[in-house]
Amino acid sequence: MNALTVLHAQALPGLCAASMLLGAIFGSFLGVVAERLPAWVREEAGAGNLLYPPSHCPACQHRLSAWENIPLLSWLWLRGRCRHCRTPIPLRLLMLELLSALFFALSAGLAPSVGMMLCLWVLWCGLLPLALIDLREQLLPDCLTQPLLWVGLLINLHLHFLPLADALYGAVAGYLALWLVYWGHRLATGREGLGYGDFKLLAALGAWCGWQALPSILLLAALGGIVGWALFFQRQDRDHAIPFGPFLAFAGLTIFILQHLFFTF
Ligand SMILES: [Zn+2]
Repeated sequence: MNALTVLHAQALPGLCAASMLLGAIFGSFLGVVAERLPAWVREEAGAGNLLYPPSHCPACQHRLSAWENIPLLSWLWLRGRCRHCRTPIPLRLLMLELLSALFFALSAGLAPSVGMMLCLWVLWCGLLPLALIDLREQLLPDCLTQPLLWVGLLINLHLHFLPLADALYGAVAGYLALWLVYWGHRLATGREGLGYGDFKLLAALGAWCGWQALPSILLLAALGGIVGWALFFQRQDRDHAIPFGPFLAFAGLTIFILQHLFFTF
């Protein structure tokens, strides 16, 4: 065991704890992004921005003090209710902070390099708000999908996880694959089966994972979609579109993790 490995082993618990804290903070911020971005993208009146209006209770408008805004801890201290009007704070906010904290800590513990750890964090921060926004609003904003695509290409250009050509073909093929499905479905049925945001999200995932991973991503997303439909969407009427973005995001993240942390394919 060389000195660097010993140093890494000694620093690992601290690194994981710090990553967990950072993950909780990002989880809280990503929740705000998912909440506020759709109104801002649609330029709705009074949409505000990510910083304004400051965090407040949506029921009584009570402005949260600093100690009511601490990721994870505040929800527990307040026992999941607004201090002012006792309206329950949605459990999903706690889950976002908790999941992000766990993801950041696990990435720190398992990633083979600092570069890969940072890439996993960036991918998480891009995909989580996209999945949440698409789930609620059936929208995959360009201001998230497009930077994710460019960052995927730049990462493979500079960190060489994949040959740049594989990433570039991945982006092009990802876009075109769903573009073809969209037009095939539209010509056959006269209805839109997918949104343009789905093409851009798969293009971004192609840039991150390479063209070779696209069939696996699509297969996993389709399987996730079938399970999700059976569990949650079955009662909705047939004309109500099921968002595909959350399943694409889940599949893309899973395949990226499998590619780099467990297998090479
Ligand atoms: Zn309140």
